Amino acid sequence: MTKHSPRTAVRIGHITVGGDAPVVVQSMTNTDTVDEVATAVQVAQLAKAGSELVRITVNSEEAAAAVPRIRERLDAMGVDVPLVGDFHFNGHKLLTQEPACAEALAKYRINPGNVGRGSRRDPQFATMIELACRYDKPVRIGVNWGSLDQELLARMMDDNARLPSPREPGVVMKDAVVTSALQSAARAEELGLPHDRIILSCKMSVVQDLITVYRDLAGRCDYPLHLGLTEAGMGSKGIVASTAALAVLLQEGIGDTIRVSLTPQPGEARTTEVVVAQEILQTMGLRAFTPLVTACPGCGRTTSTFFQELAEKIQRYLREQMPQWREHYPGVEHMSVAVMGCVVNGPGESKHANIGISLPGTGERPVAPVYVDGEKTVTLKGEGIAEEFQGMVEEYVHRRYGTGGSNPA
Ligand code: SF4
Repeated sequence: MTKHSPRTAVRIGHITVGGDAPVVVQSMTNTDTVDEVATAVQVAQLAKAGSELVRITVNSEEAAAAVPRIRERLDAMGVDVPLVGDFHFNGHKLLTQEPACAEALAKYRINPGNVGRGSRRDPQFATMIELACRYDKPVRIGVNWGSLDQELLARMMDDNARLPSPREPGVVMKDAVVTSALQSAARAEELGLPHDRIILSCKMSVVQDLITVYRDLAGRCDYPLHLGLTEAGMGSKGIVASTAALAVLLQEGIGDTIRVSLTPQPGEARTTEVVVAQEILQTMGLRAFTPLVTACPGCGRTTSTFFQELAEKIQRYLREQMPQWREHYPGVEHMSVAVMGCVVNGPGESKHANIGISLPGTGERPVAPVYVDGEKTVTLKGEGIAEEFQGMVEEYVHRRYGTGGSNPA
């Protein structure tokens, strides 16, 4: 993997983005910020799932007034995740009128395309930057192609039309997205915001456009980059599109913090976007968050759903334990667990895992050999295979990772 170029490190509360820091996972709430209880609860859920920064919409005076109270509630819950305020159109007013909001937030997100129109744009942008300087807060200059600065785009299109060989309009549009971010960052520095208080993003909704834009952006500056495919969509489409885009860029060393912008399916937890972001980073070998289950896809040799249920149950169990395990079992996030459907690949895959089980396939003896650190230890059978295996995983974690002496009872 190539590291694209060294990025400036930016501190956001106790979190560092850029420099040598690992890629940071962030997320965004979808509660009404005015509902401070619901918002604090969802921020806490996202943080517990592993979100290292959480963004909240600050879109009205009431929302701005709620922000310090949300911060207080989180502090009372022992949740120290930094809060990022998402501002559009009226951020200059809200941050001016609500100093406690400006103070409680750890970072401000400014969209240069939505900061104000015409003659109001520059002074309103300047006000937000001056407030960021006054409160010593970093800023993300977040361009979104859906709200690209239309005046800049029109100017660049006009300039392009006058060229002897004009570029394709799509090329100019992508250039305008990057230019908007870079010009805004330069303006922010002119206004006094230090270089190491700026993060950039240029979100696009088409995978190839995102890759093109971020490669360009990464080559033209050393600000840390917030990476994400905007409007990724719902379900598998959103996950696949985000993964396809982010994986290409992360593999090139581009991206210092990521957000997966999934539309939750009805009834789906908001935390899915955090799990997906973590799994992108972990399956690429960039970070480790939770022990992962290796499972075969199953085939005609697995005629019951027992094997899928066990794989799902173990993965859920591992994820649920992590908030506690993280403290007591350092390194457990690197553990691998195999749950395999039959003896064809089961023992081989189990041997490569820290702990693995190979369930009986159709027509095989109803026994399940368990491998620990590559060695076959026991053969489980009967009704309680799932519970016994889970118990063995727990015991393994305690024995292998619990040497610090502060294990929970
Ligand atoms: S390990 Fe067995 S059950 Fe799983 S896919 Fe391979 S042959 Fe099928």
